[in-house]
Amino acid sequence: MPESPCVALDARFRNLTLATNPRLELLWTGARWSEGPAYFAAGRYLVWSDIPNNRILRWDETDGSVSVFRSPCHHTNGHTVDREGRLVSCEHQTRCVTRTEHDGTRTVLVDRFGGKRFNSPNDVVVKSDGTIWFSDPTYGIDNDYEGDAAASELGGSHVYRYDPATGACDQVTTDFVQPNGLAFSPDERALYIADTGESHVAGGPKHIRRFAVASDGRTLSAGEVFATCTSGVFDGFRFDALGNLWTSAGDGVHCYAPDGMRIGKIVVPEVVANICFGGAKRNRLFICGTTSLYAIYLAVRGASRPAP
Ligand code: MG
Repeated sequence: MPESPCVALDARFRNLTLATNPRLELLWTGARWSEGPAYFAAGRYLVWSDIPNNRILRWDETDGSVSVFRSPCHHTNGHTVDREGRLVSCEHQTRCVTRTEHDGTRTVLVDRFGGKRFNSPNDVVVKSDGTIWFSDPTYGIDNDYEGDAAASELGGSHVYRYDPATGACDQVTTDFVQPNGLAFSPDERALYIADTGESHVAGGPKHIRRFAVASDGRTLSAGEVFATCTSGVFDGFRFDALGNLWTSAGDGVHCYAPDGMRIGKIVVPEVVANICFGGAKRNRLFICGTTSLYAIYLAVRGASRPAP
């Protein structure tokens, strides 16, 4: 039997992975830097960004083919699917968050805060109330590799909450070096946010913090460190239905139990930037690993949003 890519560090992890034939599948390779996977259940396809190559790729679950979904794409990074099934994207080059409508047109949702342009929105999630939460580090303006080099107008890197119903945009964090991946816990009572500040500050953060979401659904508090990365940095991550956190890392995908213990990992032969759950049963983990798109079936489903 081939060696399993799944490494259990705690007995709990064994219940989350397939006991027989757990297999990491290489679905496609040929990107320069893969990021931001988003699975569309209705169409049975997944889109993701190849940021330096300025294109969004599309993997078709029905026949396994990969095609270019959009290019140029303003160096998109993170993507997600909103409650209405529309693609919501972070764009580095245009320094904004966009939505692709049902008719295919692209709408700029928000591109500045307090009159100043964002740095380069990186990753995005949609809450059950339809609000859009996104991080805004500087990776897309640091140089011309993943966008266009520019100075930060805001002078800091924060997380924002945008309400498409009202157009209001609020800054919800104040003390990140480089906020990156983010995800709500399955019950949406907590928001987890990665800080990849080690890329810019020697000895800087490479952790995920946990914030309590107030009963108003919009205010954050606490923000303690939930987990510190043991290999590379945490970029993007998602929760399974049991509340375990699956996150990108330098040597694959790491899995943390709700109590913050790292209980296992999936070894991937390339640096992983982001993941998402998909497939008809949401039990397939899609993994963006540098040049490639990988997938693995798990024994747990990805979390779905609570009803609003
Ligand atoms: Mg990211």
